[in-house]
Amino acid sequence: MTMTIDLRVFNTHPAWDALLKVHKVLRSRGHKSYLAGGAVRDGILGRTPKDFDIATDALPNEVESYFQKTIDVGKAFGVIVVNEGGVNIEVTTFRKDGEYLNGRHPTKIDFTDEKEDALRRDFTVNALFFDLDRGQVVDFVDGEADVKRGLIRAVGPAVERFREDHLRPLRAIRFAAELDFEIEEKTWSAALLFRNAVPKVSRERISDELRKIMLAQNPLRGLLLLKESLFLQEIWPSLTLLQSQHYSQLTMKAFHFLAGDKRLELFLATLLIFEVEFETEHVGMNFRVGIERQTKALQEFRFPRNAVKATQFCLRNFLEMSTLSTRALLLLEDPFGLDLFDVLRVHRQARGLDLTALEKFKNRYLELCAERGQLPEALITGDDLENLLVKPGPIYSELIDRAYLEQLDGRLENKTKALDWLREKLS
Ligand code: ATP
Ligand code: MG
Repeated sequence: MTMTIDLRVFNTHPAWDALLKVHKVLRSRGHKSYLAGGAVRDGILGRTPKDFDIATDALPNEVESYFQKTIDVGKAFGVIVVNEGGVNIEVTTFRKDGEYLNGRHPTKIDFTDEKEDALRRDFTVNALFFDLDRGQVVDFVDGEADVKRGLIRAVGPAVERFREDHLRPLRAIRFAAELDFEIEEKTWSAALLFRNAVPKVSRERISDELRKIMLAQNPLRGLLLLKESLFLQEIWPSLTLLQSQHYSQLTMKAFHFLAGDKRLELFLATLLIFEVEFETEHVGMNFRVGIERQTKALQEFRFPRNAVKATQFCLRNFLEMSTLSTRALLLLEDPFGLDLFDVLRVHRQARGLDLTALEKFKNRYLELCAERGQLPEALITGDDLENLLVKPGPIYSELIDRAYLEQLDGRLENKTKALDWLREKLS
């Protein structure tokens, strides 16, 4: 069965011209060249692919010789990136993997034809080619039917495929979350056998799959599959809120309100704040203790550094931001302040709470920032305290702090009034 893909999902992609160019060069040299992997799957689904990969019978050295700009990203595995007019196209030589070592890497690979190349891939939906000249899907694994049915199915015997590479069970879950697909029964029961193998996968690869699950179309689905497979206990033991229907629901709703947002920190912070609320409610955990525990657990992963910093900021300042007090306005000045604000917003939305107070708070901040794009400068500074001969100590910063909050509250309109206020406080 072949079906042509509606080419509009491809030819509107910014990398399309580069893809065709690379394809034509390979063809003009007498090679086979197919669009391969995720892009074909996405094309059948009518979704815009992330990027384009080509599979070819040209050897890596040949690929390098045909193009001016290439990057050797994994020549030994047949992978060369061709940079065509500033766009990267991954060109991979058809290959077949030899024996796998330690559930991680093939000990050797051989270059081969397209059929064997399809058979070494993980899931049928990822093992499709697209013949760019004929406009036809080339399918050795009944993958097209699986794409249409929405099914993640291992290519060949699932147990063997998971034994070769222990990352694949996690990839199955990730694709189920990204595509909102079911995992075929045999593939799923095979995946379940590899619970003890999951922690052997490197932190980097686990974190990468988790990151993709969090940013997937249906992250909660991914998390629930991780829980059901008991993989979650292995890789993220401090995440327990999914035990509760209520908290699973809240998380799902919050993720729904975040849909399409690409900030990993929002998903992580949202999830972990609910986690701590759950622990506070059900196991009597102190909120602050719970926050610190989750903040620490986060360091076990290898998420992008900035996302971790932002998440930690959101966790540690969530309670203060929730007060919507004048002091909370100061949080908005932080580089991660808007992240925190958005986390608070989806938390309230998930609980069906009214957002009026939140909007008022934001507007108040924007008004205060109208003049110089950030909060106004403090009227009372250390110099004023020094002039009034205040002795340095804790009282010092406390006074400056209080003066600034008074100022933001509009009770100190100018320097004179501010100094009057200060003198009064000191007397
Ligand atoms: P994404 O949209 O995340 O890029 P993708 O399907 O392109 O999805 P990649 O991880 O980029 O996934 O891999 C490209 C292709 O290489 C896959 O479609 C799959 O055919 C194959 N592949 C990648 N990783 C593995 C693996 N661990 N085992 C078997 N095949 C794999
Ligand atoms: Mg890809």
